[in-house]
Amino acid sequence: MKLRLDKYLADMGLGTRSQIKKDISKGQVLVNGTVSKDAGTRIDTEKDQVSYLGQTVTYAEYEYYMLNKPAGVVSATEDRHDRTVLDLIDTKQRKDLFPVGRLDKDTEGLLLITNDGALAHRLLSPKSHVDKVYFARIEGKVTAEDVFLFQKGVDIGEQALTLPARLEILSSDTVSEIRLTICEGKFHQVKRMFESVGKKVLYLKRLSMGTLILDDLLPPGAYRTLTAGEIRSLQ
Ligand code: URA
Repeated sequence: MKLRLDKYLADMGLGTRSQIKKDISKGQVLVNGTVSKDAGTRIDTEKDQVSYLGQTVTYAEYEYYMLNKPAGVVSATEDRHDRTVLDLIDTKQRKDLFPVGRLDKDTEGLLLITNDGALAHRLLSPKSHVDKVYFARIEGKVTAEDVFLFQKGVDIGEQALTLPARLEILSSDTVSEIRLTICEGKFHQVKRMFESVGKKVLYLKRLSMGTLILDDLLPPGAYRTLTAGEIRSLQ
């Protein structure tokens, strides 16, 4: 891929385009070891070596992060009041990252953060029916009747009933633990499905989305880049 030198540096989050242009004209950028004072220099991202203020800058067209979202942060790119999931990715380079889908502020678990819009579209499109698996704690006893109703589809106030969902009861007592697999992504869907059978979600965590499974080694708030295999399997 070929692009202008100032865009190359701006894409990597190294400053505003105008700041970068100034630094380039001051001779602070080297291309293949030689000072380049022209912001319009064409850079081949595969071949050329760029350094800025003495640091080598490697170009990444796409970045992919798996975050274990903690409760208390919002799934947005910016927010006036709350910390966002992007604030947690402190090694990010690209400025155009966004979370693929949303988890509620109080929900934890798997969130993919990328700037790959085509991948996000494929994962989120209602036509794709990508499975999402959640673990939840529910107030009261979850029953075989709930399993049956979720399989059949429940009324959450949308035009149609929810698509068949797989509800597994892990334990059923004053608080029940369940795993739920859904292939839609309606707003507050899991909470609304339990509400429709008169039950309340006390805790919710996403475990997987399509082929992407939350890494057990990531505590809430931690993240890592996706492996090449994970990226491939999402394509
Ligand atoms: N369903 C919900 O109700 N909340 C989430 O955060 C995700 C799915």
